Amino acid sequence: MTIEIGNIALRERVSQFLADDPGKLLIGGAWVEASSGERFSTIDPATGAVIAHVARAREADADKAVSAARTALISPAWAKMTPAARSALLWRIADVMQEHLEDLAELETLDQGKNLRTSLFGEVPAAISQFRYYAGWPTKITGETIPTSLSRTPPGKEVFAYTRREPVGVVAAVVPWNSPLIMTAMKLAPALAAGCTIVLKPAENTPLTALYLGRLLQEAGVPDGVVNILTGYGTEAGQALADHRGVDKLAFTGSTAVGKRLVSSAAGSLKRLTLELGGKSPSIIMPDADLPAAIEGVSRGIFDNGGQVCVASARIYAHRDVYQDVVDGMAAAGDKLRLGHGLDSAADLGPLVSRAQAERVSDFISEGRVEGATVVTGGTLSGPADTFFSPTVLTDVRADMRLMREEIFGPVAVVTPFDDLDEVVGWANDSDYGLAASVWTEGLSNGHRVASALEAGTVWVNCHSFLGPELPKGGHKESGWGYENGAQGLENYLETKTVVMVI
Ligand code: NAP
Ligand code: MG
Repeated sequence: MTIEIGNIALRERVSQFLADDPGKLLIGGAWVEASSGERFSTIDPATGAVIAHVARAREADADKAVSAARTALISPAWAKMTPAARSALLWRIADVMQEHLEDLAELETLDQGKNLRTSLFGEVPAAISQFRYYAGWPTKITGETIPTSLSRTPPGKEVFAYTRREPVGVVAAVVPWNSPLIMTAMKLAPALAAGCTIVLKPAENTPLTALYLGRLLQEAGVPDGVVNILTGYGTEAGQALADHRGVDKLAFTGSTAVGKRLVSSAAGSLKRLTLELGGKSPSIIMPDADLPAAIEGVSRGIFDNGGQVCVASARIYAHRDVYQDVVDGMAAAGDKLRLGHGLDSAADLGPLVSRAQAERVSDFISEGRVEGATVVTGGTLSGPADTFFSPTVLTDVRADMRLMREEIFGPVAVVTPFDDLDEVVGWANDSDYGLAASVWTEGLSNGHRVASALEAGTVWVNCHSFLGPELPKGGHKESGWGYENGAQGLENYLETKTVVMVI
């Protein structure tokens, strides 16, 4: 069977998935209704049409999912699985995802809105690469033996001490809607590599690829209860998981506002907590930059995915010698992008994720206009559901304006001229956030100096948004706690146990 969106026919497997009532919860290996029997709808943000009705999990479902994850944690099928077998399982998950790459991409686009090329060539491959990267780790998780100098050692005896690295336990993974599958993979892959079990709560706006992935995990042979999926609202299912005493670790990606609230939720049981939060990332363009590359890089950095990117290049500081060229170049880059349904191959940029998000972005612009910002290009909302926001370039934005200080999460760049390097580094650092930054220069010394001076978890030199599973990613200041990716990403899911023996 095939389902049509406008006049675009969906892929066979996506049509089948949607026709098969995909909206149940995955708990302990079974697809079940929410305890209350309630559902909510997930919509195509380009048209406002309902795609599917999805189970609305609440506290009772969180209890069941946590209990299933706890049972699976100590089940022989998972706890006794050898590291090599866990490694093979992660690789198999990647293989199965690869077989369904186009289905996952189409579904992500339909639910989230992003252009299909972004899903197909960027995000789904990036999600798969998380599983391939972490597939290498299970066989390399080791403790150490530690020589001791303890005076209490009985005569004739020795102390033998060593550490074991153990899975932290049941993980609640709560993810946002901007890049749903990548965010999910960034938590599942290291958690599985460490031997944890998981309850995943996707964003209410974008639950579908998580539900599709749930079926793929079963196909790959993930034992029942190792990954459980609760669709629902953050304030219900999400909060229930954050508060749950049976959850050992909460891995959260989302807004700083919610992240701060979760600190007190986690305090109840002192569960481990990592927070990947918001940003307002600065990009500094020096007079000696490769200007076309810089303009292209920062334009993509803010316009890709409609600016719904945590590391988006939202604040552009261009040296006065190149300022006008940067403003004009970014405006031209924005104007060139064709807005259209994510599945329309003639379009470059899809809608924002929801009407609410589009209104939020719009409000920022209206407020900025009143406060004296100049809209060089963009700033308009269009489309059947009023969700398409045109790529926007603003100038004359003062440091104290919300446009400069708050995360907009839309395709909105603020461009400001500078004269002096020390001064601009101060401006770049004048933010509560500290997620990412970029500097564009052909000068090696300036590149290193600015990279060292910027307060950010990632600094790019002559590139922006270059991310990979091997590169630690985290936020300084109010952009988060802890790091994902690489060896540090795995550490989030491991505890250390020290064993001391008298022998
Ligand atoms: P959000 O509102 O904070 O939501 C993120 C997730 O948390 C969603 O699943 C949400 O559920 C859930 N949630 C909401 N309230 C909750 C609560 N009280 N308890 C537990 N869970 C709760 O963020 P968003 O608007 O979806 O995503 C955009 C934000 O994510 C931006 O700030 C962006 O910068 C950030 N982000 C950060 C990174 C990074 O790596 N640093 C990466 C991507 C995105 P609902 O969907 O039901 O609201
Ligand atoms: Mg949706």
